[in-house]
Parts: sequence; structure tokens; C-alpha cells
Amino acid sequence: MTENVSLPERLEATFLTSAPDLKRCPPNGGAEVAFAGRSNAGKSSVLNQLTGNRRTAKVSKTPGRTQLMNFFDVRTGGRMVDLPGYGYAKAGKEAQKNWQNAVNHYLSYRDALVGIVLVMDIRHPNQAFDKQMLDWASASELPIRVLLNKADKLSNGAQKQELNKMRNLYKEHPTVSFQTFSASRGTGKPDLIATLLEWLSLPIDAEDAEEAVPHNELGRQP
Ligand code: GDP
Repeated sequence: MTENVSLPERLEATFLTSAPDLKRCPPNGGAEVAFAGRSNAGKSSVLNQLTGNRRTAKVSKTPGRTQLMNFFDVRTGGRMVDLPGYGYAKAGKEAQKNWQNAVNHYLSYRDALVGIVLVMDIRHPNQAFDKQMLDWASASELPIRVLLNKADKLSNGAQKQELNKMRNLYKEHPTVSFQTFSASRGTGKPDLIATLLEWLSLPIDAEDAEEAVPHNELGRQP
């Protein structure tokens, strides 16, 4: 992190639109960072904390929108995309399969995608879905920041231990980075905002959009 640059305290963002699948995503409009995580890991709370606005996640939790990809324009440029929470208990098997396919497509073919924020509960990190996401992003060389969220639930020592454990597990994966976070308290926010501002200012090559070269398909080895 550069120490001399003053960071904003929040990333102002406004809801743009929702999309059920890649075809119905809005036209590319700048770099996109996707937010993923198991249901209840605290993804909505992280988004609210980041934007300083409770309405951000409310949009994504509106009935009918929970299984859609929700796009937010960041005032300073780029977009945040709230992906449906994995393992949403009330969704039937068929619905889950449908949105999983839609999300896989988005992750594999969306040219504007420059990075992923993966939210985990620090007390139960690296579950099957998390591992799949990490392995895929790493194979795709797509930067991924893991938030070990709900850090306030553990002592400082235990937080460090979890952080080191995860870093050690993925030490051979240069595009994977970890940090502790507390959406309730805002701990870890400056670090995350610095990363997001860097990613969101990356240029995307809109002309490639037609050709849609996949990063590689999620769930498959490259
Ligand atoms: P989502 O399903 O991933 O969007 O999760 P939510 O943001 O709705 O959070 C699930 C539950 O975890 C809620 O009761 C939140 O208040 C709680 N929660 C989220 N982040 C934190 C955190 O950093 N610390 C604590 N203690 N609770 C949190």
C-alpha cells in the first residue's frame, strides 16, 4: 500500500441493474470486481461497510434479486458486481444449478472482470466452494482477494493464526491474497479499498468483448 496517497473512507456506489445470465449483463462500462461468498459469510455486510450505505446490500437482498448478479457503478470509476451467495438455503436444487451456471459463465467469459473478492467466515474458511473458487481464479491468473470476515469473533492471536494458515496453503499462488476483515467494525477496510481502487482503474479492452476469450471454464482444469 502507498502510504502518502490519501484513501477515501468509502467507495460510493449506485445500483445499476441486475442480470440473470451473462447475455443479459449490461454492456461493458469499465473494470468490474465481483463479490462472491457462501451465504451468511457476510458479503452483504462487507458491501454495506465498503459503500457506507445500507441500501447497497438491501438491493441485492430484495426478493427476486437474491439469485441475480447485481451491478453497482462506483462513483470514481468501474463497477462492483454482487454475485448470488453460494448455498442459499431457500433456493431449490434446480434454481441453484441455474444461477451457478450463470455465475460460472460470467466468471469465465466477462471481459470486464479484473478481480474477485471472496468473502469467508474466518471461523469456517476454505470450504468446498471457496477452494473451487480459489483454485479456479488461481489457474485463470485472475487476482482474488480473500476476506477472512467476522474477524471480531476471534482474538488477535487466533486471527493471525488463521491468516497465516491460509497464506501458507496458497503460497504457491501469486494472484491469491488474504486479509482479515470485520464488516461490523470496518477493520481491514483501508487495505481492501486500496486494492479495489487499483483493480477498478485497470483498463479493459472493450474490443475483445465480441471475441469473449474465456479465462478458462470454472470447475475445469485449464
Ligand atoms: P451474506 O449472506 O453473505 O450476505 O451475509 P450477511 O451480510 O447478511 O451477514 C450474515 C450475518 O453475519 C448477519 O447476521 C451479519 O450481521 C453477520 N455479520 C456479517 N459480517 C460480520 C462481521 O464482520 N462480524 C460479525 N460479528 N458479524 C457479521
